[in-house]
Amino acid sequence: MAPQIHTYDTIIVGAGGAGMRAALEASKRSRTAVLTKLYPTRSHTGAAQGGMCAALANVEDDNWEWHTYDTVKGGDYLVDQDAAEIMCKEAIDAVLDLEKMGLPFSRTPEGKIDQRRFGGHTKEHGKAPVHRSCYAADRTGHMILQTLYQNCVKQDVEFYNEFYVLDLLLHTDADGTQHAAGVVALELATGEIHIFRGKAVILATGGFGKVFKTTSNAHTLTGDGMGIVWRRGLPLEDMEFYQFHPTGLAGLGILLTEGARGEGGILRNADGERFMERYAPTIKDLAPRDIVARSMVLEVRDGRGAGPNKDYVYLDLTHLPAEQIEEKLPDITEFARTYLGVEPTTELVPVYPTAHYAMGGVPTNIAGEVLADNDTVVKGLYAAGEVACVSVHGSNRLGTNSLLDINVFGRRAGINAAEYTEQAELQPLPGEPEQAVVSMVEGLRTSTGHERVAALRAELQTTMDQNAGVYRNDETLAQAEKDVKELQRRYRDVAVQDKGKRFNTDLLEAVELGFLLDLAEILVIGARNRTESRGAQAREDYPTRDDVNWQKHTMAYREKDGDGGYKIRLDYKPVIVTRYQPTERKY
Ligand SMILES: Cc1cc2nc3c(=O)[nH]c(=O)nc-3n(C[C@H](O)[C@H](O)[C@H](O)COP(=O)(O)OP(=O)(O)OC[C@H]3O[C@@H](n4cnc5c(N)ncnc54)[C@H](O)[C@@H]3O)c2cc1C
Repeated sequence: MAPQIHTYDTIIVGAGGAGMRAALEASKRSRTAVLTKLYPTRSHTGAAQGGMCAALANVEDDNWEWHTYDTVKGGDYLVDQDAAEIMCKEAIDAVLDLEKMGLPFSRTPEGKIDQRRFGGHTKEHGKAPVHRSCYAADRTGHMILQTLYQNCVKQDVEFYNEFYVLDLLLHTDADGTQHAAGVVALELATGEIHIFRGKAVILATGGFGKVFKTTSNAHTLTGDGMGIVWRRGLPLEDMEFYQFHPTGLAGLGILLTEGARGEGGILRNADGERFMERYAPTIKDLAPRDIVARSMVLEVRDGRGAGPNKDYVYLDLTHLPAEQIEEKLPDITEFARTYLGVEPTTELVPVYPTAHYAMGGVPTNIAGEVLADNDTVVKGLYAAGEVACVSVHGSNRLGTNSLLDINVFGRRAGINAAEYTEQAELQPLPGEPEQAVVSMVEGLRTSTGHERVAALRAELQTTMDQNAGVYRNDETLAQAEKDVKELQRRYRDVAVQDKGKRFNTDLLEAVELGFLLDLAEILVIGARNRTESRGAQAREDYPTRDDVNWQKHTMAYREKDGDGGYKIRLDYKPVIVTRYQPTERKY
């Protein structure tokens, strides 16, 4: 059956914070559709806990320049500083916009938006932690997502819920310029294929934390947007930089916000020692995540881990007043009670690093436009949020800078896309635009292979946890690369049990696994190639940062290998430095 064709000006893929913030802008001046594989309020933004930072200076002295400095230093000097300046400057309005939309922030006694401390956010260029994170208890992301959704509903934004976008349509014109032409989606309820034509496409599909086993990320974070762009021959940037959040519930990975340490929580080893005093004497438990995660792993490796297997450390909240914990951290204390049976007001909570956030992704400029190489724009194609790499987070994101990123760059992408559609034309579609999706989906549905999605995914996650985690070296990364290649080979023989059309999540999980395998390979190859340690990339065999050779972004390209297959080619892009030259990163 021929697919249905829908025509809009702006197509937004994803209804998390970035997608809906973009939709609020784009729909004001262009006919906009939002396609989302999840019902909007189930997007992962809703799981965000600790806060969104902006130098409001409501609690103490602060300014956006200090925030920029912290972001650049936190990202270990791989941050594009022009982008970080924009983000930190626009942060203030981004928070106030949400307040005007009705977001119920936690308040100071005088009624201002309250702010708390967070890792790596300091005053006067690193002197002491600063109160910069605006929050709504430990449900900040939930409040952002609900507020944005309600405002989208108020503004009559058109949503296509449970539509899985599986391909991007591009048109190359006579002079070789690439343009966005639309997307191809599968409707979950019917299994039907739909084509959405648009003058502009904004990708806001979030991260890919499911390449790891121990992860804070939802089951749905499979990097579809990155995978789609990759298969269409566009590059991905800095994929080796994957963040591990220090405080996952031990053995489970469920996140306990850094806000717990912002409220005064302390990490202790099995001897009860506050070990972060040794690793980051000035800001201790509020050092950036890469440093805290490494310190925890070292404590465990050196035999000071707690528990029967000595394989975790403790988060200690017991010295904080119970009312403060209940009021400021209600959800995470409940998680500790429910999942580990621990009472955080009186007992220590077992924690260990958990895979959390992709610093890399689809390269964009500060307007949110997607890049086909270091500077060529794909006309009409935008990306924002965790799927994108602007790069404001460099090699290590500071806590609370992602909720900020999605609001600032979601808004910019929405405005710029809508403006673009006012003067652009619809692009011609290729003949049979649905063809690639149909053959992928039908190939999976009718496969008689013997491999199972769940088994392959589990093996992928295990090798990634073991070999591409907080610490890596050439040997572990070579093992991961070999394992991923073998899993890709076996994936060709994957079959799904559900052969039906309606609500075939079995089939879609197989598609998602394909994206995860592609992204894992790029991550591992990039990490192996980068022979230095910087931010989240900690190489045991190259323990220092090497600015002479490596203060540059990795750009990965998918190219034909001559044997009918594909190979990954790595190239580089200079880091944009405006004010801050790299210096030794001490905290
Ligand atoms: C547990 C947890 C706590 C966090 N806490 C904080 C915090 O306190 N502060 C902070 O700054 N950051 C935090 N983060 C990080 C932050 O929440 C995320 O990076 C951010 O919310 C990502 O937003 P997004 O809009 O880019 O993507 P998401 O919110 O993940 O949304 C992705 C959207 O894309 C859609 N989508 C994906 N694939 C497809 C497809 N193929 N077709 C159609 N639609 C698709 C999904 O349906 C979804 O709507 C946290 C993250 C986690 C996991």
